[in-house]
Amino acid sequence: MVVEIFPPYPPELSQTQLSYLLQALTDYSLSHGLTVRPAESFISEKLSPNGALATHAPITLFPSPFPRSCWEAGRAVQKDYNELYARVAGNAEWLKKTMVELSKVDDFTARLYKVHLDVKAEGFVQPLSLGLFRSDYMLHMAAPEGPKTPPVVHQVEFNTIASSFGALSTRVSELHRHLAKMGAYPPDSIIKPENIPVSPALQGLAKGLSVAHKAYGNGGDGRSTAILMIIQPGEKNVFDQRWLEYELLEKHSVQTYRISLADVPKLTDLASSTQALIYSPPHAPNTQIEISTVYFRAGYGPGDYSGEDDWAARTTLERSKAIKCPSVITQLAGAKKIQQVLAMDGIVEGFLADKGVSSQVRGTFAAIHPLDKSPAGIAARKLALEKPDTYVLKPQREGGGNNIYRGDIPGFLKSIPESHWSGYILMELIEPPSLENTIIRNGGLMSGGVVGELGVYGAILWKDGEGEERGKGLKEIVMNEEVGWLLRTKGRESDEGGVAAGFGSVDAVLLVD
Ligand code: ADP
Ligand code: MG
Repeated sequence: MVVEIFPPYPPELSQTQLSYLLQALTDYSLSHGLTVRPAESFISEKLSPNGALATHAPITLFPSPFPRSCWEAGRAVQKDYNELYARVAGNAEWLKKTMVELSKVDDFTARLYKVHLDVKAEGFVQPLSLGLFRSDYMLHMAAPEGPKTPPVVHQVEFNTIASSFGALSTRVSELHRHLAKMGAYPPDSIIKPENIPVSPALQGLAKGLSVAHKAYGNGGDGRSTAILMIIQPGEKNVFDQRWLEYELLEKHSVQTYRISLADVPKLTDLASSTQALIYSPPHAPNTQIEISTVYFRAGYGPGDYSGEDDWAARTTLERSKAIKCPSVITQLAGAKKIQQVLAMDGIVEGFLADKGVSSQVRGTFAAIHPLDKSPAGIAARKLALEKPDTYVLKPQREGGGNNIYRGDIPGFLKSIPESHWSGYILMELIEPPSLENTIIRNGGLMSGGVVGELGVYGAILWKDGEGEERGKGLKEIVMNEEVGWLLRTKGRESDEGGVAAGFGSVDAVLLVD
């Protein structure tokens, strides 16, 4: 059931008003780097030699109304979520049981876990870990009885690797605020600049990286230090990443280099005595840079590993003295299976000692069930096969386009060996209120019913135990902040919402009381 809680929206525009708004939106976006590289299917290499052309990111024409209380609620729990996932990642002993089970049914998890175990056997040399996390929520009508029941936020998933669109979230909120200020929206509409807060994610994520960089300390043998970003070859969302580099260099005087996993063996080495990660920039012969922090914007899915060399590269990085954002175990802590285990009775409470804190975090959970052979798993198997209409089935994958919805679930489950079902989780579909907006992608407009997903960013730097104490719980939290938010908006008819995957758009919140 779709419930209406927002005032009539968006405002109606005359053709002249629409042209004025579109021109202003397009020009502002292009001149302020709210941009992506166009897909090859849209523009050929011949028309964009050397990547010369950019287009604005998929964006909404209007900021989307979002209840202020829900925006505040999502932000309020972020530091607790940061701590929760840092504590989970710091406790490899607790993760072991789930990872061993998952490894039996999911090759990618098995491969990642093996990297962790291989490096663990040698001994980790870096006690610090950096998390740049994003917790994603949808508005949920707790009791869908009409406008009197305020919505709450329910968590879709928690991302511990390559949480993207931070910089573009800053730029898109600046865009919508600017359009409101310049009078591009009808003056009698509810769109007022003071209700469009600017997301500080660009600055906050860069600060997280710079804090890690400084905590690393000086390079050995007089080497200068820098951050290494691991990127996908041909990345289209490159400006979202570049903004972080610019912020790091201009505000924090920290240099960043970008390489793919395939470049790791060619361009890096481990110093034999310290395991410092030494990077040799190809454009500057005879220069050796010591890497303080490896920031992964790739490596989250099987498609990022084209063969054994890429797995060897990931292992080299994990083995190095550089601070990892994230470490392999932190990436694994972000598995959907872990989200489901955390939702079981008493688990979050075991990680977050303060009862008030753990109950606030738990208050954002949607119902998630295992599909293993536990009593809860057997009950959920029955739901999945017989009453799938209010559920989504999720494998242990990131990046969008992997889930199975509603009526497709039984057929899908029957198409795979039953022994593999435990690699999936069954999650209740969140029911967001109705809303309309227009999404602009590659210059084309799509108007109609939309669904928003609020992502809240967090930055946390923590210290794990050393030697025998590693993996038995984190030792110290050095920095922990909530650093901004992102609204992603997709067409209501689309189940998936990934912006980069081609389903959604970036949006700003228009706070409503
Ligand atoms: P991924 O790691 O691929 O991003 P997600 O868990 O975020 O996986 O799911 C992808 C998309 O599917 C989400 O952005 C959201 O649009 C939709 N989705 C996921 N879980 C739910 C849910 N419980 N209710 C409604 N939609 C969901
Ligand atoms: Mg997601």
